[in-house]
Amino acid sequence: MPISHKIETIIKNYEYRNGIIYFDNNATTKIAPEVLYEMLPYLVSNYGNPSSLYKFSNEVLNKMNESREKVADLLNCSSDEIIFTSCGSESNNSAILSALQTNPNKRHIITTEVEHPAIKNPLTHLKEKGYKVTSLNVDNKGQLDIQQLEDSITDNTALISIMYANNETGVIFDIPKISEIARNKGVLFHTDAVQAVGKIPIDLQKLPVDFLSLSGHKIHAPKGVGALFVRNNIKFSSFLKGGHQENGRRAGTENVTSIIGLGKAAELSKKNLVTVNNQIKILRDELENNLLDTIPDIQINGDLENRLSNTSNISFKYVEGESILFMLDKNNICISTGSACSSHSLEPSHVLKAMKIQSIFLNGSIRISLSRYTTKDEIKIASETIPKIIYRLRQLSPFCS
Ligand code: PLP
Repeated sequence: MPISHKIETIIKNYEYRNGIIYFDNNATTKIAPEVLYEMLPYLVSNYGNPSSLYKFSNEVLNKMNESREKVADLLNCSSDEIIFTSCGSESNNSAILSALQTNPNKRHIITTEVEHPAIKNPLTHLKEKGYKVTSLNVDNKGQLDIQQLEDSITDNTALISIMYANNETGVIFDIPKISEIARNKGVLFHTDAVQAVGKIPIDLQKLPVDFLSLSGHKIHAPKGVGALFVRNNIKFSSFLKGGHQENGRRAGTENVTSIIGLGKAAELSKKNLVTVNNQIKILRDELENNLLDTIPDIQINGDLENRLSNTSNISFKYVEGESILFMLDKNNICISTGSACSSHSLEPSHVLKAMKIQSIFLNGSIRISLSRYTTKDEIKIASETIPKIIYRLRQLSPFCS
């Protein structure tokens, strides 16, 4: 079969999901059809390097800048405040290193115990290099003590880095209040908004954050593209040094196709934000209520009033989260037991440990995360399958009499 026919076959099968029920949208999301459509010409025929000077490439540069406008529009900031990166992790690392390099006399960073490894690990590394890191605890609902945060700020504090919404529980921190405190104390503030962007409204005209990270693959754009917002009056020192791309702030030929995908995904997120998230919340709540009604000894983790509408973190007594994951996998239902990066480890989640979730619930927790592609039928199937699996696992459990 000629290669062009093979490509056609792949695209024709685009909607075919192998019967998979995908409930792991905080790990990654499917590329929206509109996003793929927007990207395809730039994968195939419009392959010019945006830095070149002829018309063929100018068209690519213009399209990339259109994407920048769309991302800025989603966040209500200026397009020259958006730097395209390779992922959320790069955006986080860039923000932290820039804040430290532009404030060489300050060596203290404030963060939380429940950050994603894309913040936790760079900060551990900096601690080993002699920086002081204050890691704030959370309460049983996964919320911060704002007073404790304020009291931790010293004259030596270079940066506060606190996530917008937690990837495991969906708990949303009070970023408007926290960023205001940082601004009043004259300390730089970064938020890892990888899970929040596209799920809750973010208005950077009103929100005094200095740096904000986002990632394409969490909002139905491809993997391998992200963005970092850097407020216009904030000094920035680039992480990747080399060519003059991204206005001299991030070297390396841009991942043009994915950037174009990210722009389209941002446009769709803005258009759908309120209605879609209301619909997702209805489905999430229906699933939770069905499970609470049919399964004894379970609890929903996190601040139920301040949570992303797509995320549910549920603990079951007397079973292991991994056993639930594998049994659901046999039924073609994809979920996770923690953050994407810890899904190959059997260590209990650092987020639930920080929340001091009772040990009897700690190991039996799963994360279900929905998207705008989740259907009512899928919720019905999961509502019937999960209780059966828990019942079977509990029959095998030595702790369950
Ligand atoms: N921050 C949070 C809160 C995340 O959930 C993730 C990914 O799961 C990341 C950062 C890392 O993003 P990326 O996979 O784009 O590097």
